[in-house]
Parts: sequence; structure tokens; C-alpha cells
Amino acid sequence: MARRSKRKTYNAIKAVLSIVCVIIALFVYKFCMPKEQDYEIPEGTAEFHFIDIGQGDATLIMVDGKNILIDTGDRADEDRAKLVNYLKKMNVTELEYFVATHPDSDHIGSAAYVVENYKINNVILSPKEHTSKTYENFITALEERPSINVINAQEKLGECINVGELEMKILGPVGEYGSDDNNNPSVVIMARWGNTKVLLTGDAEEEAELDLRTEYGAALDCDILKVGHHGSSSSSKNAFIKLVKPEYAVISCGVDNKYGHPHKETLDVLEFHKAKIYRTDLQGTIVASTDGENITFKTEK
Ligand SMILES: [Zn+2]
Repeated sequence: MARRSKRKTYNAIKAVLSIVCVIIALFVYKFCMPKEQDYEIPEGTAEFHFIDIGQGDATLIMVDGKNILIDTGDRADEDRAKLVNYLKKMNVTELEYFVATHPDSDHIGSAAYVVENYKINNVILSPKEHTSKTYENFITALEERPSINVINAQEKLGECINVGELEMKILGPVGEYGSDDNNNPSVVIMARWGNTKVLLTGDAEEEAELDLRTEYGAALDCDILKVGHHGSSSSSKNAFIKLVKPEYAVISCGVDNKYGHPHKETLDVLEFHKAKIYRTDLQGTIVASTDGENITFKTEK
């Protein structure tokens, strides 16, 4: 009898100890384990992340708790990993807008992947189509998701799209270009946050720059220019930069890329117009933050 009572007591103590252990474990898990921090932007601030994606383009705009992605970089696994890891770091799972500036693979390399793996509400496309597998996969992925609102940029020229307090005015493509020309039909957007204006031109070249000058003139004036076509001398002509007058110029290109981007002519024009130049090949990912008046830059390197 006494032995049975001892065992009962022993079992009871064991049960209590087990419960205490579980409670301690839960406490440690909840309060002591490192957890992923939400990436937070100060209220009233917009951020433009020019992601170091190698030779290509990918720009993330974060504003009022919403995200806009412009281009994805190229289709190689390592390029995709850079994009996906960066979006993960920024806790981005949903895109209010995804803009595919034009059908070259260094801009839409992971477009199908992005459409398949992120919640997207709106997509803005260039009217320029392409026969590449990368482009076809992207369009198929879009067709399989009819809930996404697809916008042809050329049908919305001059119109403003608002994301929270951010205004995105669609400026291009203005004209019709040759059937082999993928660059000039790039979607061109002027993003405005308070008094800060950021001009994003994809790979628009001299012909498109001329059309933009004719159509918008002095209204092209901006604070930050995402330099056209990775700093190629086929873009950023003197007459264009003279109107755009960027205080800051951001060039997205890969280290030692085979095109020699950015070209010396482009750097000379930007320097002549006193733009402060940032480059992803030298500085890694570049983040511009603005409260609508003041602009600050952070670079990875
Ligand atoms: Zn490009």
C-alpha cells in the first residue's frame, strides 16, 4: 500500500515536472528565440531599392506598407536567388504593382516566377511583345491568374496611378518603334513622393528619349534618375539629361559586364550635369529614402 502511494506521488511529481518543462520551453521559444524582424520604414518615408542583381534591373519601391517591383533581373538561378533573397529580407510577399518594363530577359528573367510565387494585384506591361520562351512563360503565368489586373502602359500614357501617397505617372513608351527594338518601348514611370521625383526609364534609348522630350519637356525634371539601359551610351544623351537634371543618377549593371556598362560617354554627360552617381556594380544594392523633401542614400558596399 505504502509502495503504491509512493509511486502515485512519484508519478504526480513527474507529471508536474513535465508540465513545468513544457511551460519553460514555450516561454523560452516565445521570448528568448531570435525572430525575424519586420522590415519597417519610418512613417512618411518612401524607399527606392535598386537591387544589385548583376547585369540587369530590379527596383523595389516600398511605401505605405505596399510594394512595387519594377523588373526582376535575368533568368539565371544565381540572379533569381539574389532577387528572391532580397524580397525575403524585406518581408515582401505581396506586390501592389509589378512592372515589366520590356521583354528583354535581363528585366523579365524571373517574371513568370514572380507571378507564380507572389500575390500580385496589378501588372504594368510594355506593348512590345517577344517570341522568347522567357516572355511566353511570363504571359502564360499571367493568363493563368485572371485575378491580376493587367495594364498596357501605352493605353495609360500621362495617367497617374496612386499607391498610398505615392504617385506613379506613366510617361512611356510614347512612340512606335521598330519590330526588333525591345529597348525603346520600355515602360517609363515618374514616381513622386511629396516633392521628390524619381524617373525610371527601363532601357529606353535615344529615340525614346527624344519622344519623351517632345512630349513632356521640362516636366521630365527629377531628383533621382534610374539611368537608362544600364548606363549604355545609347541612352542618357546630353539633350535628355539637360532636361531631366537629376541630382542623383543610379546605374544598375554587373561587375565587369561584357557590354562595358556604364559607358564613359554616359558618365561624362551625368558628371557634366553635376549628377551624383551611384552604381550597383561598385556599391551593391542602393537604397534611396525620402520623406518628400530630403533624400538619403544607403549603399551595401
Ligand atoms: Zn537591360
